[in-house]
Amino acid sequence: MSELAKLTIAAARDGLKQKTFSAVELADAHCAAMEKARALNAYVLETPERARIMAKASDARIAKGEAGPLEGIPLAIKDLFCTQGVRTTACSHILDNFVPTYESTVSGQLWRDGAVLLGKTNNDEFAMGSSNETSFMGAVTSPWRRKGSNTPLVPGGSSGGSAAAVAAHLALGATGTDTGGSIRQPAAFTGIVGLKPTYGRCSRWGVVAFASSLDQAGPFARTVRDTAIMLRSMAGYDPKDTTSVDVPVPDYEAAVGQSVKGRRIGIPKEYRIDGMPEEIERLWQQGREWLEAAGAELVEVSLPHTKYALPAYYIVAPAEASSNLARYDGVRYGLRVPGRDIIGMYEGTRAEGFGKEVRRRIMIGTYVLSAGYYDAYYLQAQKVRTLIKQDFEACFAQGIDAMLTPATPSAAFGVGEKGGADPIEMYLNDVFTVTVNMAGLPGIAVPAGLDGQGLPLGLQLIGRPFDEETLFSLGQVIEDAAGRFTPERWWA
Ligand code: GLN
Repeated sequence: MSELAKLTIAAARDGLKQKTFSAVELADAHCAAMEKARALNAYVLETPERARIMAKASDARIAKGEAGPLEGIPLAIKDLFCTQGVRTTACSHILDNFVPTYESTVSGQLWRDGAVLLGKTNNDEFAMGSSNETSFMGAVTSPWRRKGSNTPLVPGGSSGGSAAAVAAHLALGATGTDTGGSIRQPAAFTGIVGLKPTYGRCSRWGVVAFASSLDQAGPFARTVRDTAIMLRSMAGYDPKDTTSVDVPVPDYEAAVGQSVKGRRIGIPKEYRIDGMPEEIERLWQQGREWLEAAGAELVEVSLPHTKYALPAYYIVAPAEASSNLARYDGVRYGLRVPGRDIIGMYEGTRAEGFGKEVRRRIMIGTYVLSAGYYDAYYLQAQKVRTLIKQDFEACFAQGIDAMLTPATPSAAFGVGEKGGADPIEMYLNDVFTVTVNMAGLPGIAVPAGLDGQGLPLGLQLIGRPFDEETLFSLGQVIEDAAGRFTPERWWA
């Protein structure tokens, strides 16, 4: 494989600037790697012609000295982001022929800054899942394997294709969305960095909606610095998203490498859950030691409502999903299955168009919003959500700058291994990540080590609202101490 695909975004940026290689060469190297890695099913659409055109334009701008901050950087886009003229499916049968006439704000800002589109990446259908197995386009296979085993593993979800693509050197970076953990969990499973920004930091406009009060777009890359570079382009106020927040976008990269001396890091005791594997506990301890050695002060804190986060999330998220997905009715776009009358058409379209997990979420959501149960479920879950947010606020008010927790309760599991008979088994994967979405906070997953079977494990840092910079500084400390992790290539 070409060495070009192994670069970081920062190194590629330098190489392009110095004209060591061209943007076309960089894009071609990635397109060649993608072709050889189809066994992973990370991409649901490759766009090599478009990549060449965009890269050529980048080379022209570089030659004229007009390079943008991401000029010539080849990226993958989760298939949840609408891309103008490029098929966008949310990996659902109901949208599998949908070609948007507009570009999502976040992807548009990446192109504005010079990035190059490599293709659209696989995800769980409508971003519902933790393993990328609910995709209508088939499961993604992780580039990682257990030592001495050929068992295919999941890359995590729902942004599994993006995570696998970045980990397998099929893109320098990728976008993801995170409603309950869908950036941080797959990043942890594949040994890369993933950041969920503060709610309102990145525009949701043009991103296929799952649960609007929880959804946030964010970057995946192989280093903390690279995610910081990407976030600067992705973030920003957008009047087209009513929940977008008008605060300036800092130079996130400047926070990378900054001292963390004297920063107060909370260790929430409720994250020490029953049955947590030794290895996760040890990793967490290791992370504490690394941060302490860098001069941070570690403080045990309490987030007493943590245990209610997962059940409350699985009321709020399906409720919003059931409402958001009502628009897929076969009338304006997407699949249409003709019926006897209009009701028959709706029913046929939705029955055929949505997969099992999506149908389950719609049913749960409709149930918890129904007149007789609204107070008992939805309203109650909203109250719990406020309490979870207040838990964090109380800690931040006492001078805590960020929290350190494990990113996931285990390493990646095998394809087909979880959630078959009992969906809750799959839902439990989000136990460390959903609180962050419920509270609207930023969170980053940074690879921190390998387990006994040689699989990556990640640590999570949770920050104050709009303080992604602290997460980048702390994340860099972990990256410096832990090193980086690359899967052994078996797919080509
Ligand atoms: N795994 C969670 C779910 O299935 C979160 C998914 C996400 O963040 N998009 O809802």
